[in-house]
Amino acid sequence: MNGYGGSILRVNLTTGQITKQPTPPEVARDYIGGRGFGAYFLFKEVPKNAEPLGPENKLIISTGPLSGLMVPGAGKCDWTTKSPLTGGYASASMGGHFTAELKYAGIDSIILEGVSPKPVYLFIDDDKVQLLDATNLWGKGAFELEVDFKHKYGEEYQVAVIGPGGENMVLYACVNHDYGRQAGRGGVGAVMGSKKLKAIVLHGTKSVPVADLAGYRKAGMELYKACKDAEGLAEWTRYGTTIVTSWCDEVGALPTRNFQAGSFEGGKGIYGQTMRKEIVITDKGCFGCPCPCGKYSNMKRYNTQVEGPEYETIGLFGSNLGIGDIQAVAESNRLCDDLGIDTISAGVCIGWAMEAYEKGILTKADTDGLELKFGNIEATFAVVKKIAYREGKLGALLADGVKRASQKLGKGSEKFAIEVKGMEQSSYATHNATAMLLAYMTCDVGAHHNRSWAITYDLQVGRDKVVPEKVARVIWLQNFRPMFDVLGACRLQWVELGINRDLYVPLLEAITGLHRTWEDLEAVGNRIWNITRMYWVREIEGFGRAWDMPSRRFYEEPPKTGVTAGQITKYEDVIRLLDMYYEQRGWNTNGLPTADTLEKLGIASLVA
Ligand code: SF4
Repeated sequence: MNGYGGSILRVNLTTGQITKQPTPPEVARDYIGGRGFGAYFLFKEVPKNAEPLGPENKLIISTGPLSGLMVPGAGKCDWTTKSPLTGGYASASMGGHFTAELKYAGIDSIILEGVSPKPVYLFIDDDKVQLLDATNLWGKGAFELEVDFKHKYGEEYQVAVIGPGGENMVLYACVNHDYGRQAGRGGVGAVMGSKKLKAIVLHGTKSVPVADLAGYRKAGMELYKACKDAEGLAEWTRYGTTIVTSWCDEVGALPTRNFQAGSFEGGKGIYGQTMRKEIVITDKGCFGCPCPCGKYSNMKRYNTQVEGPEYETIGLFGSNLGIGDIQAVAESNRLCDDLGIDTISAGVCIGWAMEAYEKGILTKADTDGLELKFGNIEATFAVVKKIAYREGKLGALLADGVKRASQKLGKGSEKFAIEVKGMEQSSYATHNATAMLLAYMTCDVGAHHNRSWAITYDLQVGRDKVVPEKVARVIWLQNFRPMFDVLGACRLQWVELGINRDLYVPLLEAITGLHRTWEDLEAVGNRIWNITRMYWVREIEGFGRAWDMPSRRFYEEPPKTGVTAGQITKYEDVIRLLDMYYEQRGWNTNGLPTADTLEKLGIASLVA
């Protein structure tokens, strides 16, 4: 099939059996690739009530039809599984160079199933696929192991690896690749660890067939030219996502001291401009990217280097912990990456613990003697290590995520656990930003920002307004933005450089031979959104509206400081937002897709 590697690689870690099957054309037609393949295979193949860290769960890694081709940022793959953190759907996007090699090995998806009796790594070299012993590699940090593999096999081999966090099944463990790229959210690294799979090492040399070579070259060049000519290219390349830090501080969206406020008095110390001046030494991008957002940093104080931090980590390990020191934030980033835990979830968990400590709910007896106050840099580093190894009372408590930790601790700490559906909220304070709040509430994996980044829309139309247009905007973004994850390319060229999305239409057609407009693609996005919603319904008894509620902080506790001081979303407005959202989605009043909606979307038989 044009645009595809052509095969699905299935690896059973229990038996060691490795098989390949042709990529089903009807699945490619209906779900296209990437996140679409992940949602389809998860729903169809993972049995109901599978234990997320048990042999029945599967980890599905998928490329899309643009992956590995000369398309800006076409280095994205999707990692889908049943989340050990939330018990529902997890899908994490990973950049770098892994995806292209996977496609060149002729593989559209790897489906990992079962549990290996001993640590192994998966080695793929075109058609040679092996499970190899990793007993001596167990316990290694992600950076060291990636270097070791590059020395062993060569720079052209791409590596995805888990750190100790994944081995110890921290419920938000990530997968690391290219030293600074992660499949970060939902605990995909814990699932890999549960399967005793330490790493995937791969290299491919095959060509990817395209339908119209001349058309592909022409449309691809037009897209690259649009990126090169974009007004915002220089600034984006200089700062990457860190550019929004100062903006978030100004508008009251920068999470501060566990989201108690949205502006930070020490903000300047962690702004993108400060970071660029003080620690950035070079820029780093994913495969085929003309506008690299990765910033490689040198932390002189610690004599260490890391790719990052990007905005989410700055917010959650900086202001959210009361730390206005970019070197310290970057060092926390390095520790998390090497140990293999998601910086977003870890930052929220530590922020929650610091607040609990300052309120006297956690004491030194619970923190192994750590003075866990906001702003304590050394304590932050110590807690990151404790989490990765589940060490002591505190490490064990926080390794299971903020929802479980707060339920276990009680004493009112549930009120300031910042999560939706059990996933820690990423780095936008939403006390008075109703579209962004709704985006978090209804996101398909939990409180994640990348499906519907609606905060700028809040400012455009009035941040506390609760109107149908806002809800429609959130839904449109949820259907549209994840399509980049389906196609296997980065969305940031469209988001940040303002590239006309219609430029992708002839390119996709030249590659696949199929004409699809954005409206067609959004329809696929809508179908996938409803499949994943039905996955939650299937897996969680009684699933409904209560799972879409945000942290109480955002409708009960107005910030005392900063530009949003005194501002809050009213409880009635939270309820109205959900009412409007369900109606516009064609779901019932409890948030479940109706039979009619599923029928119209053509997915009734799949989700029956
Ligand atoms: Fe990767 Fe950033 Fe380029 Fe996107 S913009 S492809 S995330 S380097």
